[in-house]
Amino acid sequence: MVDERIRQLTEDCREEGTVMKGDLWVSPDQTAAVYTARSAGFCFGVQRALDTVYEQIRSEHAPIYTYGPIIHNEIVVKDLEDRGVRVIDSRQELENLREGTVIIRSHGVSREIYDLLKERNLHVVDATCPFVRKIHRIVEQKGNEGYEIVITGSAVHPEVEGIRGWCTGEVTVVETEEEARLYKQKTDKNLCIVSQTTFNLKKFYKFVEIIMGLSYHKPAVLNTICNATEERQTEARSIAKLADAMIVIGGKHSSNTQKLYEICRKECSNTFFVQTFDDLNLRLVPFRGIVGISAGASTPNILIEEVSKLCRKTILNRC
Ligand code: SF4
Repeated sequence: MVDERIRQLTEDCREEGTVMKGDLWVSPDQTAAVYTARSAGFCFGVQRALDTVYEQIRSEHAPIYTYGPIIHNEIVVKDLEDRGVRVIDSRQELENLREGTVIIRSHGVSREIYDLLKERNLHVVDATCPFVRKIHRIVEQKGNEGYEIVITGSAVHPEVEGIRGWCTGEVTVVETEEEARLYKQKTDKNLCIVSQTTFNLKKFYKFVEIIMGLSYHKPAVLNTICNATEERQTEARSIAKLADAMIVIGGKHSSNTQKLYEICRKECSNTFFVQTFDDLNLRLVPFRGIVGISAGASTPNILIEEVSKLCRKTILNRC
């Protein structure tokens, strides 16, 4: 019953019975609804990094570079490019820079990159998310105390590359269950397990359990998954359970959006990944029922609102 699910959604998305958490639109006959998750869109770290770039543009510290795209969103990166902000994609490009401001994005970088920036006397603006910075400090400190480090996450993700670059001893990155099962400790030291901030919480604890079964020592387990990610995933999962169709908006290179998509798809087979407004094919979405919307941490609010508006117009016949 759609009515019952809408009632449940309305209850689930109210705080203390009055304030709506997300954005819920219901058709007058109560047979269709569009619900946008409260946690959809920029997280604190991404918003902070982006604000930093716009601040630098205003303060005219040209030329301005970001080390890697500031967020995984082509629309935003293009806008910054139009304002003169260039993206440096490699260490080698950095080595060739003679002047300018280099902004470190929310993913953070390795110690080696900080050293290089210092060496080259470049103006550095550090927009590393404080939650990521905290992981750098943990692995550095635990490494100094003699721990061997395990990071759960993707070895090729810039955040993990950065974290890895702060480890002072042996380190292994584990991304899949198979890798966790095949994990072999390189030393006989104590283990410290941390995670990429956007890693799936359930997988993290699963991998911890597997690795604990393989190790003689009880590892130091530090859940460094960011609350923003957890909240986004939990909320998206709850909506997807009730929805007839789910739309996940974000860049194709955004790992947190990809994970969000996987989570929603498990609960709702009609889950669609939307990167740009043009990707949205409303013919795929049922015309009646509940449509849920969530978005990754680097999705601009304007895009979320455009998608929501189109859904409201098509499904509910209102804006
Ligand atoms: S997801 Fe969390 S850790 Fe990552 S940038 Fe956003 S707030 Fe920071």
